[in-house]
Amino acid sequence: MGDDGFLKPKAGFATQAIHVGHDPDKFGYGSVVLPIFNTSTFKQIAPAENLGYDYGRSGNPTRNCLEECLAALDGGTDAMAYASGLGATTTVVSLLSSGDHIVSIDDVYGGTNRLFRRVVDRLGIKTSFVNFTDLNDISEAIQENTKMIWIETPTNPILKVVDIAAIAKLAKSRGNIIVVVDNTFLTPYLQRPLDFGADIVVYSVTKYLNGHSDVIMGAAVVKDADLAERLRFLQMAMGVVPSPMDCFLVNRSLKTLALRMERHKKSSLHIAKWLQKHPKVTEVMHPGLPTHPQHELAKRQTSGHSGVFSFRHIGGLKESKKFLDTVKIFILAESLGGYESLAELPSLMTHASVPEHQRAELGISDSLIRLSIGLEDTEDLMEDIDQALKAAFE
Ligand SMILES: *Cc1c(COP(=O)(O)O)cnc(C)c1O
Repeated sequence: MGDDGFLKPKAGFATQAIHVGHDPDKFGYGSVVLPIFNTSTFKQIAPAENLGYDYGRSGNPTRNCLEECLAALDGGTDAMAYASGLGATTTVVSLLSSGDHIVSIDDVYGGTNRLFRRVVDRLGIKTSFVNFTDLNDISEAIQENTKMIWIETPTNPILKVVDIAAIAKLAKSRGNIIVVVDNTFLTPYLQRPLDFGADIVVYSVTKYLNGHSDVIMGAAVVKDADLAERLRFLQMAMGVVPSPMDCFLVNRSLKTLALRMERHKKSSLHIAKWLQKHPKVTEVMHPGLPTHPQHELAKRQTSGHSGVFSFRHIGGLKESKKFLDTVKIFILAESLGGYESLAELPSLMTHASVPEHQRAELGISDSLIRLSIGLEDTEDLMEDIDQALKAAFE
């Protein structure tokens, strides 16, 4: 009953996404769709004797079904869902102790940068921010007390791609360093970091995994029993857990993940290639373009790129503002990975919390615009970008 184990080793991605975690016989009544167990507590049959669940923070059937599915998609053994992507990051960093050290990629997600610099730092855990495209720089940054390497690839909003396998190998040669990959931008459909030697994959489930811009959630996936046990304990002990309703919504979203990612991938590459030839555009940062500096690595490590990419135009702040004011289909908003297309200005929005000197080093200027290509018709999106660029430079 409810045994989907036979699917995990051999079934394809879409089949696993649709069937792992729930089958109609699991809870009686034959419900084809995963039920929402909207309860905070569970009746016990005798003191400390229960039917598998005791209290909603430590476990909930809807949440556990989602977690099983997430684990399978990444080739992991265990997944933990958290209340947000940053909640997942906070919990993963709580594996460390005061005096430990983190080496993080320099253009990490803005919220992760802020968490490391302004919260984790105060707890006595220092972070070095390093350019991860040079292995020597990472090697030099590793100290005796380095316990975690934090990778994000591709990065945000510059779309740098870094070599997960090479960094994992370096980390293992330098002691017991936990390698974490924030895989939010690609999802397991396009990149599976555990296969390249990473220890923990973290997600802002808020983005592509949910894909409908109606849930804030995070997750961590592992295939090591000790890490699984420690993260499961922290999930319960720290309490950064999502609601059963949100777990239901995300589980539903996983059923179309393969379809959605195919469409995001195709549409964004098509638009990126077209933008490269646009007279007002000076640079398009998209790992699927042969001109991208790490295009070959991206081809080895991923099965394509998603819908997020950035471009630079010949103007400045005034033109960026006009562009964002003129787009009609693209919505001016932070976030990414939903069915709807979004556009934003990282220098004033998503990356405003990154210190100015760091923004300048990374190339996050006022002429850099980030797009999240949704699932609309590609031709309509190109027409929208074109009319807004024309208006910006009138
Ligand atoms: C959005 C995002 C996060 C944070 O996730 P929340 O769900 O907003 O807390 C972390 N990493 C990346 C790459 C993101 O895009």
